[in-house]
Amino acid sequence: MSESGVSGAEQPTVSEQVMLAKRDPVRRLTWGYVIALGIIGLMSIAIHITIDRIVAEQDNVSTIVSKSAGQMGMAQRVALDATLYVTERTTATHQALAKSVKDMNDLHHLLLLSGINDVREFSKAPETLVQVYFDPPYSLNDKIVNFLYRAQNLVDKKPQSVSPGDADYVSLMQQINGTLGASLEAALTAYESAVMYKIVRLQSLQRIAIGVILLTLLFEALLIFRPLVNRVHEYAEELKRMTMTDLLTGVGNRRFFTMRGEQEIFRARRQKQQMCLALIDLDHFKGINDSYGHKSGDILLQKFVETTRGCLRCEDIIARLGGEEFAVLLPNTPMDAAMMVMERVREAVATARYQLDRNFEAQVTISVGVTRINLAHDDFDTSLVLADIALYDAKRMGRNRVVAKEAENFFNEDPVPPGAADLKQA
Ligand code: GH3
Ligand code: MG
Ligand code: MG
Repeated sequence: MSESGVSGAEQPTVSEQVMLAKRDPVRRLTWGYVIALGIIGLMSIAIHITIDRIVAEQDNVSTIVSKSAGQMGMAQRVALDATLYVTERTTATHQALAKSVKDMNDLHHLLLLSGINDVREFSKAPETLVQVYFDPPYSLNDKIVNFLYRAQNLVDKKPQSVSPGDADYVSLMQQINGTLGASLEAALTAYESAVMYKIVRLQSLQRIAIGVILLTLLFEALLIFRPLVNRVHEYAEELKRMTMTDLLTGVGNRRFFTMRGEQEIFRARRQKQQMCLALIDLDHFKGINDSYGHKSGDILLQKFVETTRGCLRCEDIIARLGGEEFAVLLPNTPMDAAMMVMERVREAVATARYQLDRNFEAQVTISVGVTRINLAHDDFDTSLVLADIALYDAKRMGRNRVVAKEAENFFNEDPVPPGAADLKQA
């Protein structure tokens, strides 16, 4: 800890660099998440605007279409008012005709100016509309202008001077019964198709926006959410592993050993297998610390674990219970085999020379207590007590040895309560 503190101001230490590297993906994932949410937000706004526009467009356009549809009615109204005017020749019919001519004129200008322009603004289709208005065969603009011109002429004449034979009236009637209706019909159809074109285009835009949102969500799930969950899972696993591991030697700790021991007892009961437990204590370890220092003692503990592991099968479970005391669980192993294995460990440790630093080579011995777990009666803690008593015996008998304690033997003898070791020592 102090190492990183000293050099941290100048340059990041290795551990700080590792920490930064580990923080990086978190920052990357966070940014990715924010960007993905941003895209979804923008897309949602885009969809909202598109739908708004569709509604507004439909509103606007349906007004134009209904006005265009009203033109035919207007023309017929003018014709009817003109007929009444030339037959009745009253002020009232004159006024009625004047009004309907004005209305039709206003509507024509409205459609010609804003109607066509509105359609032109939102659609590529209005070419047909322009053609309907200005090109043959419909030439609607000319026809309406001519129709209104004749009607206005009639309005300009005094009631006394009009008659059913009036040239303007006759022309009006010819036009209304002729191609004017067909041209107005063509304009209406052109308006409608321009509107449809626009609506279909907006709808496909809306579909694209929804597609982009779904894709973004998919990418978010695959590229951000999944790695995020994986990483959290990894951290949780790492934490779990750390709570079960002895940091100095890398083997399991007491908690891990108890948990695995209970699992193995269940398994051995199911499969009717024998299982043994050994407790190991390094002899005169305090002397090692005193002679070579605590740090050297730590190194020796690590090297001792290596030696012991080298003598065990991979299914055997080793753990550090605390200090210089270790435990080994030997699944599917009868007592004589367990004794052989632990004797092999004892010998390997006793003959090993441990290089603790450049100058010192240390030697250490171990005392081992072995017990067969009585699967019919014992729980794991009882077996630990038995192995501990065996270990105490090994110490008492001079250390550097492996001593067995069978449950049956133990309970047949005078029962020695747990902790009796200390009493005997005293
Ligand atoms: P015995 O043969 O009776 O077991 O003697 P011992 O000296 O090994 O036993 P004792 O219980 O008197 O001393 C155990 C020593 O182990 C004392 C303690 O400083 C040392 N020890 C415990 N944990 C550690 C550790 O993590 N590192 C080091 N270096 N020493 C440790
Ligand atoms: Mg010891
Ligand atoms: Mg001890």
